[in-house]
Amino acid sequence: MTNLDPSSGSLRQSAPKKPVILVAEDEAPLMTLLRYNLEKEGYRALEAHDGDEALMVAAEDTPDLVLLDWMLPKVSGIEVCRRLRGRAETRNVPIIMLTARGEEADRVRGLDTGADDYITKPFSMTELLARIRAVMRRIRPALAEDIVSFGEVTIDRSAHRVKRGDKDIHLGPTEYRLLDHFLQHPGRVFSREQLLDAVWGSGVYVDARTVDVHIGRLRKALNEPGQLDPIRTVRSAGYALDESFKV
Ligand code: CA
Repeated sequence: MTNLDPSSGSLRQSAPKKPVILVAEDEAPLMTLLRYNLEKEGYRALEAHDGDEALMVAAEDTPDLVLLDWMLPKVSGIEVCRRLRGRAETRNVPIIMLTARGEEADRVRGLDTGADDYITKPFSMTELLARIRAVMRRIRPALAEDIVSFGEVTIDRSAHRVKRGDKDIHLGPTEYRLLDHFLQHPGRVFSREQLLDAVWGSGVYVDARTVDVHIGRLRKALNEPGQLDPIRTVRSAGYALDESFKV
């Protein structure tokens, strides 16, 4: 194929892709302000003015991050958050809740639902942009990479392959998703319920002990007898990747 117009096609495609931020906010002046600042910062902003629209837009064009107002018409921010976490495509997309509520219980509830961070209105644009950069830095590197390693365990997402050292590890689909989820958040402790939400999806009813069964299978597949276990059981809390395994 010939390409006579240098402004189109391959040249344009080689420009770095701008991170996409979905802004779900029903206050028009705040939306305008957010959009202006995000675009100035080099992001592409997608707008949603209620909860339904947020879910629709996120399904059409998976964002890299979501700014989610707590109080949204139609479907509440917290419900949007829960549903985004329940979909495979948006399960790991960072979500920052924008909330007018400052009470501790609400913050905890927001984070329980799967938000990565929250910011209380009114907030300064400088603070919000700093939070966005921090969340992007924390979450994007592992997501952007096809090949991610933790110690001698390596996952190749494009080939759907897992290795420990030179040895190929064969995992079932659930064990694969569990491992991938851990590798995206090294060191972070997940409760069984959080793992169920992240790996099985929040709409599914599965007994929390099912997680233990699949963790057991994952360990069995990863570890030869006598080898260090990369997965740490955190008593009465859940599971995490063992940071000491990385060294
Ligand atoms: Ca609102």
